[in-house]
Amino acid sequence: MTRMLIIGPPGSGKGTQAERISERLGVVAISTGDIFRANVKGETPLGIEAKKYMDAGDFVPDSVTNKMVRDRLTEGDVEAGFLLDGYPRTTAQVDYLDAILAEGGQLLDVVLQLTADDEELVKRLLGRAKDTGRSDDNEAVIRHRLDLYHGQTEAVVAKYADRGILTQVDGIGGIDEVTDRVMQAIKAAQSA
Ligand code: AMP
Repeated sequence: MTRMLIIGPPGSGKGTQAERISERLGVVAISTGDIFRANVKGETPLGIEAKKYMDAGDFVPDSVTNKMVRDRLTEGDVEAGFLLDGYPRTTAQVDYLDAILAEGGQLLDVVLQLTADDEELVKRLLGRAKDTGRSDDNEAVIRHRLDLYHGQTEAVVAKYADRGILTQVDGIGGIDEVTDRVMQAIKAAQSA
């Protein structure tokens, strides 16, 4: 049973690694970005609201995001563990997640941070934009998303470091190579 988070700047490959971790550990991967994108595609009220923020590279407000995560974490498939990808991104979201987990008497085992240099990330994301056509993958928006990561999400990482559950992995390299590092880091963290 594993309950973990994956945190990384935009373009660090956290979605790809999250899918692989999820398969290998047999836990469900929950990506707030994917849930938002599915809602945008389906033109649901949540999607219409979220799209305004996503296109600008801003965070969707906590009032929307927190409730969505709470609802998702009450579904049955998380009982065997979970991997949250892209949440929490602000210290207020950390507090909110703490409260959800405390209600269920649950603790996080591992918080994994993928690290990468900003210029490498911009290069990767501009490349990805050509393939995926993601509306938030243009240079100005990419730089804004990176600024938010440094300005807000690094404080989240610091909180988990203080709690002694942070493990950092270099996200630069081939996908398989990074997966090997990630799986080793999780194993080491769980046996620590
Ligand atoms: P991602 O796929 O994780 O890069 O997320 C794509 C976009 O979804 C972000 O740029 C935000 O606009 C929004 N988003 C995803 N997760 C969160 C979150 N935890 N808090 C606020 N906005 C989020």
